[in-house]
Amino acid sequence: MYKRNVFLDILYVIISFSKGDVHMPSKNLITKLAKLAVNVGANVQKGQIVVVRATTETKEITREIVKQAYLAGAKEVFVQWSDDYVSHSNLTYQSIEALIDVPNWLVDQYKGFVDEGACFISVSSPIPGLNKDVDPKKAQQSGIAIQKAIHFFREHLMGNKSQWTIIAAPNPVWAKQVFPNLNEDDAVEALWKAIFNASRVTEDNDPVAEWDKHNATLLKHNQILNQFNFKHLHFKNSIGTDLIVELVKNHVWAGGGEHSGSGVYFNPNIPTEETFTMPYKWGTRGKVVATVPLNYQGKLVEDFWFVFKDGKVVDYGAKKEKDALTNLLATDDGSNYIGEIALISYDSPISNTKILFLNTLFDENASCHMALGKAYPMNVKNGVNESLENLEKIGYNNSMSHVDFMFGSPDMEIVGTTQDGKEIKVFEKGNFII
Ligand code: ZN
Ligand code: ZN
Repeated sequence: MYKRNVFLDILYVIISFSKGDVHMPSKNLITKLAKLAVNVGANVQKGQIVVVRATTETKEITREIVKQAYLAGAKEVFVQWSDDYVSHSNLTYQSIEALIDVPNWLVDQYKGFVDEGACFISVSSPIPGLNKDVDPKKAQQSGIAIQKAIHFFREHLMGNKSQWTIIAAPNPVWAKQVFPNLNEDDAVEALWKAIFNASRVTEDNDPVAEWDKHNATLLKHNQILNQFNFKHLHFKNSIGTDLIVELVKNHVWAGGGEHSGSGVYFNPNIPTEETFTMPYKWGTRGKVVATVPLNYQGKLVEDFWFVFKDGKVVDYGAKKEKDALTNLLATDDGSNYIGEIALISYDSPISNTKILFLNTLFDENASCHMALGKAYPMNVKNGVNESLENLEKIGYNNSMSHVDFMFGSPDMEIVGTTQDGKEIKVFEKGNFII
């Protein structure tokens, strides 16, 4: 569905030639994106500790984020650098026993951040396909070991106990995969442009004002959907999706800005276009056909589908990398159920670029999607203050995984059924009509 557009690649070449300048974005744009991450994304508070999680591919923007965080009043900014090539070596050469042995000092560091009420800024810069040659069992088991060791941290973030945000910055390998027809420098420049554009950052706009406006639009969508209080949604299109997703009782549609446990308004994802809620764990039935490849554990899963019964995946297939789906479903019981259902019009800014970003932060905002795995407590009334046990009783799905995949299409029809059986058309020809 989101095929790379050769003409778009050529267009970028023309733009970069006509400008005739260097390939790094202007300092102005980098500063604006960093400010957006600090002031709108995490909304760093005076005296707060800030943890920036970044890869060595993103030094420039990360340094600017640190500076902007201090200017916003941060008490101290910690940068947790990672490097995907180092991680690749760890996964390749360490024994499985060593990989699943998560040291206490690492866990303690996360405990410290949580206790201090730190906020978190992640700079995403994936290297798609890097772990292709890694033993999937090793990748999966080390992932599970880390998830188990720092589950409290994941619950802290997914429960919005403190502010967190994710932005993205390019690296040459990623950029070349998104724009294969460009040389490396031009590809990086094109990906920067696409990221700024999707994040609503331009040379002469005020991104903060843009995000205020954008959040207001998303809030309106949430309110309309919350008023309908649908019992279930029926998704249908011509490529084989015919799926009923029952929603949890007292579900809450969310999207755009959110409030942390201490009441600070923040934006978890830059960019974001989605409005999403919590499915009832045992209430999904029928077939869903994905429309965008899924980048999972370094593998690109293509042309895949799932069949659900009583909420659980009972059959699945893929033309490429089906094993990656097998691994995902083997994570735990909860990875066989969905924890999120999200609506995005086909006609939306990121979707309209027709760029396959190979990064969920962008691709999930181009299309209706759902996630296998953990649900967000905030998607049910009073969910963030409820115990996990009580949440699970009402149909909240718990899992160590949360993997989004896209299934929106230009002909997607969605019909919502209200609690008293009334049918309301929500989507027609891929777009919101309510
Ligand atoms: Zn989502
Ligand atoms: Zn998600």
